[in-house]
Amino acid sequence: MSTNVRVRFAPSPTGFLHIGSLRAVLFDYLIAKTLNGQLILRIEDTDRKRQVAGAVEGLINILAWAGLKFDEGPQAGGPFGPYIQSERMEIYKEQAEIILKKGAAYRCFCAAERLTEMREQQQAEKKPPFYDRLCRELSQAEIKKKIKDGQPFVIRQKMPLTGEVMVHDELRGSIKFMAASLEDQILIKSDGMPTYQFASVVDDHLMQISHVLRGEEWLSSFPKNFLLYQSFGWQPPKFIHLPLTLNKDGGKLSKRQGDVAVEDYKNKGYLPEALLNFCVLQGWHPSASVKAPKEKTDEILSLAEMIEYFDYKDMGISPAIFDAEKLDYFNGYYIRQMSLEKLAELGRPFMRENLKLTRDRRKQSDDYIKKAIGLEQERLKKLSDLGELTEFFFNDELNYEPELLIWKNLEAKQVKENLRIIYGLLEKIADRDWLKENIEKDMIDYLKTNELKAGDYLWPMRAALTGRAASPGPFEVAQVLGKEESLKRIKMAVKKL
Ligand code: GLU
Repeated sequence: MSTNVRVRFAPSPTGFLHIGSLRAVLFDYLIAKTLNGQLILRIEDTDRKRQVAGAVEGLINILAWAGLKFDEGPQAGGPFGPYIQSERMEIYKEQAEIILKKGAAYRCFCAAERLTEMREQQQAEKKPPFYDRLCRELSQAEIKKKIKDGQPFVIRQKMPLTGEVMVHDELRGSIKFMAASLEDQILIKSDGMPTYQFASVVDDHLMQISHVLRGEEWLSSFPKNFLLYQSFGWQPPKFIHLPLTLNKDGGKLSKRQGDVAVEDYKNKGYLPEALLNFCVLQGWHPSASVKAPKEKTDEILSLAEMIEYFDYKDMGISPAIFDAEKLDYFNGYYIRQMSLEKLAELGRPFMRENLKLTRDRRKQSDDYIKKAIGLEQERLKKLSDLGELTEFFFNDELNYEPELLIWKNLEAKQVKENLRIIYGLLEKIADRDWLKENIEKDMIDYLKTNELKAGDYLWPMRAALTGRAASPGPFEVAQVLGKEESLKRIKMAVKKL
C-alpha cells in the first residue's frame, strides 16, 4: 500500500446531509490537510431502497456550500474512479469471485421465509439475530445444482468459529472481539448489489485509502471488516471511529428532535463558518492540542486555524453534545464579522416578504435594504431572523396598539403632546442634515434645556417609528427611514392617541 495519506468521505445519498456527516467530512478534511494528503468523495449508493432522486447532486452542492474541497470525486475526477459505487458493479463482481475462490465467503440460498422464521424464533428466545450458517457447508455439487435451478443466493462472509479478533482504532487502541459472536454477514445481496460491508472494504483498498473515519455505529462490524481485509491479503487502513452526537437530554440526535439536515441550517441562514466551527468542537478541542496556544479558549476557529492546530490523535471518544445555543453563538459571531455588503447579499433572500409590504420604490432599493440590515447586524443570530426583525422598515402602514406609545405612567394626552414636540423638532432638520448624530443632538439638547425626562420622549418616538416594543434606537432608525417617512409615522402615532 502506498504511504500517501488519502482520506475519503463516503456518504449515502439519502436526500440530505446529516449534521453528523458534516462533522465527519470536516474531520476527514482536517486529517487530509494536516497530513498533506488527499480528500476523496465517494458516493455509496448501492442501497436501492434508500435511493432518493437528485440526492447525489444535492450532496455535492451542499458540500460545496460548506466550503470543503475534494481532490478526487464524482466532480473532481481522479485516477481511482468511478467514485460512485453504482458505477463500480463490475469491480465488486470480480472481487466477490475472488473472495469466494479463497474460501472466505460462501453462497447462501436460504429463502427469505426461512430467515424470517429463524429471526422470530431467536427474538422469542431473546437471542440476538444470527444466521445459523446452514449453507456454509454445502458441497460443490449442491451449489452447482442450486445455481443451475436458478435459485437466488446471497454471498456471506465466513467468520472464524472460535478464537479472538483484535482490531485497532486510532483513538480507542486495541479492541478484542470474540469470533463466535460474529455473524456470517452478507457481502453481496441476491440482486447482485454489494452491501456497505463489502463495497466499502473493496473501495477503501482499491482507492488506497490510508485513514477511514466513520461513525461509532460501525464499531461492531469493524472486526468483520478487518477479517475481510485479511482474507483478501490486504493491509487495512487506519480506523478512527467518531463518537456519537447526542442531544442535550442524552438521547440520539434524530430528525424528530429538530433539524439534523445541513440544508435546513443553510435555509435558516446559518453560515458555513459557524457550522464548521461548531462541528469541529464535537469531538476535538484546541486545548487538547499541543499545537494550539494556551489562550485559545474562546473556541472561535477559522478553517485555517483548525488546520494549524488540529491533530487527529487529540480527538476524544466521549459523546459530543449538540448544543443549539452554542451554534447560535457562533453564527452571531460570524455574522458580526461580516462586511455589510456581504451580509446584505446573503440576507436579501430573507427579505422577500418584506418587500411585498411596500409600494415605495426607495424602500425597495438595495441601499435601503442594506441600511435596514445594518441596524440588525449586531444582534442577529441567523439570517432568517432578518425578515421579522426588519419588517417595520418596510411596512407602509404600521399596525400596533396605541398603548405601545405610552411610556410608564404618562397620560395619553401627554404622550400625544410629546410626539407633537418631537415632530416639530424633526421637521426643522434639513434633508441633507438628516443623520443620526444631528437628530440625536437636536433632541437631547431640547430635553436638557427644558429639563425633560428622556424616556417620556424617546420611548414614544421609537415606538412611533417602529411599532415595536423592542428595536434598535430611535435616532438610527429615523436616519434609515428618512425624514419624510419618520415624520409620517409620528403623525400617524399622534392620530392614534
Ligand atoms: N455510507 C456510509 C454512511 O453513510 C459510510 C460510512 C463510512 O464512512 O464508512 O454511513
